[in-house]
Amino acid sequence: MRELEAVIFDLDGTLVDVPYDWILIRKKLGTQDVPILHYISNLEEPEKTKKLRLLEKFEEEASNKAVLKKGIPRLMGLLEERGIKKILVTNNSRKNVLNLLKRFKLEFDHVLTREDGLWKPSGAPFLAALKKFGIERQASCIVGDSLFDVKAAEEAGITKVFILSSEKEKFPSSVELVKSVDELQKKIENLFPGLER
Ligand SMILES: [Mg+2]
Repeated sequence: MRELEAVIFDLDGTLVDVPYDWILIRKKLGTQDVPILHYISNLEEPEKTKKLRLLEKFEEEASNKAVLKKGIPRLMGLLEERGIKKILVTNNSRKNVLNLLKRFKLEFDHVLTREDGLWKPSGAPFLAALKKFGIERQASCIVGDSLFDVKAAEEAGITKVFILSSEKEKFPSSVELVKSVDELQKKIENLFPGLER
């Protein structure tokens, strides 16, 4: 079996619990069924900047209330010890992301935010991150919490995907749901036996 070389994490809802009310935010922005970043990027000025600022305001408010998930520091430590690349791919802004990483003392080998221009649910940010280190898809896994993460992994052709959620009905039956970071760590260790001492 191939060894694990990289774990690609999502941020919001995965590493940290953040009280986002996406239904309200989408309503206030008027996005309807279009993904938020696509919706905003297709607007004309001055509405584009106005809506982006509004999104940033919601994000900042929510991020201020973020709580680090239990078990994350231990999992990050394990990956670090084993020399496995820790990659963060998020649609959140660089400013918010850097604040959260600093506050929770989290370190990554590579961080892709929305300013890098590659957004989930496209698989492009995952592939770009792996390419940076010359890592094959089969030697990586995705850890996320939403359908965007699932879709992006699918598009990127990354088959090992762990979703931190207990809402089974939201996901296709093929998706592997984990309820806690401890459970996630055990699953990753089982999948890649080389991880165990
Ligand atoms: Mg998320």
